[in-house]
Amino acid sequence: MNFNLSPEIEDVRLRIHDFVDEFVLPVERDSSCYNQHENIAAEPLARLREKAKSEGLWAIHMPKERGGLGMSIVGMAACYEEMNRSIIGPVCFNAAAPDDGNMIVLNKVAREDQKQQWLQPIIDGDVRSAFAMTEPPPGAGSDPFLMKTTAVKKGDKWIIHGHKSFITGAEGAKHFIVIAKTSDDKRRGLTAFLFHSDQPGWSIKRRIPIMGPEEHGGHCEIIFDGLEIPDENRLMEVGDGLKVTQIRLGTARLTHCMRWLGLAKRSLSIAVDYAKDRDSFGIKLIDRESVQGLLAEAAMQIEIGRLLTMKAAFKLDSGSFARKEVSMAKVQVADTLHKAIDTSLQLCGAYGYSKDTPLEWMYRYARQARLVDGASEVHRMVMARFLTEEGDNYWNWS
Ligand SMILES: Cc1cc2nc3c(=O)[nH]c(=O)nc-3n(C[C@H](O)[C@H](O)[C@H](O)COP(=O)(O)OP(=O)(O)OC[C@H]3O[C@@H](n4cnc5c(N)ncnc54)[C@H](O)[C@@H]3O)c2cc1C
Repeated sequence: MNFNLSPEIEDVRLRIHDFVDEFVLPVERDSSCYNQHENIAAEPLARLREKAKSEGLWAIHMPKERGGLGMSIVGMAACYEEMNRSIIGPVCFNAAAPDDGNMIVLNKVAREDQKQQWLQPIIDGDVRSAFAMTEPPPGAGSDPFLMKTTAVKKGDKWIIHGHKSFITGAEGAKHFIVIAKTSDDKRRGLTAFLFHSDQPGWSIKRRIPIMGPEEHGGHCEIIFDGLEIPDENRLMEVGDGLKVTQIRLGTARLTHCMRWLGLAKRSLSIAVDYAKDRDSFGIKLIDRESVQGLLAEAAMQIEIGRLLTMKAAFKLDSGSFARKEVSMAKVQVADTLHKAIDTSLQLCGAYGYSKDTPLEWMYRYARQARLVDGASEVHRMVMARFLTEEGDNYWNWS
């Protein structure tokens, strides 16, 4: 067993670290660089994206021949963590959700001509994308088998009717992946399709207001009212919708963990700086055992999250779906993100609660972690299923 990063990954990781320090954090600190949704505004974002491209730190998870660095998932884990030391970091490197997950699944399962048409513009940063699966009750949420959106074949086209909700990035996105029901078959009843925002037959009903800062394009409710999709824009085979979803979410859930660990580390570094500087009853906060205990606990939880994330990344790189490993990482890191930010905010006192630090932004953002891409309870259900089936083999090394 070897916990070292390869020299190539370490080189990219360090370059991203320096890039975040030199170019991203100054923008993060400048309140004039934000839009009304508390995310980085278009102009500074375009500037940083151009800079990241010119430094060869762009879409690192995509193949070299498509403009990326061909990074392994282990490599992504090390680098994404560095990117999200800034709250606005990942999108500057074209490594933010939902685009990164959409790129990964298209790169894995799309035909070559589909990749050219639908994937390459996302890699190049020319368009944003969205993944439309979740529906309002009584439709598909945690349970995909409740899917109500239908795709009915008419000649060489599929006609889509239905209602989706919480579709991240939908406002302004050009390339969409939509999951729809094509039969009543329990395992093979869903199919994935690609469509362009210019096509008629769909609309955004509303941008759903949320408690935290928003990703670009928000989280939208979408209505499909006879959208026509040519059969050539089907992704994989009819009945492979669940497979597409699992392939996408397996890695996408883990990229959330990678980014969240960076955010958790950053929150702790703000708290450590404050505690080193702040006096209380004759000594610095950092010299108080109770404060040290809080910091140490948060640091340890972050390290547990990193080990679980790296193990899942290693298994994904080895060709496994890593279902239980990804679920364990997702639950642990979502909780750690909360706890680390809460601890950091507490230790910074009123300063932590103010908008003078990004801690309150992080605190509001963090709440989605236990819901998005599978609620923690559902991931625990998955883990328990594996434990029941595998017994002691749940913890095997191979
Ligand atoms: C910020 C954000 C962005 C999102 N972006 C997208 C997107 O881009 N595309 C997309 O398709 N979806 C998106 N979603 C939707 C997300 O994937 C769903 O919220 C998630 O799958 C849970 O579904 P639900 O919200 O319908 O919860 P429900 O299924 O209604 O569940 C509600 C709660 O019940 C509990 N629960 C559910 N099932 C079980 C169970 N089996 N055992 C125990 N407890 C259970 C959990 O506590 C859960 O939180 C996003 C959500 C958020 C919050």
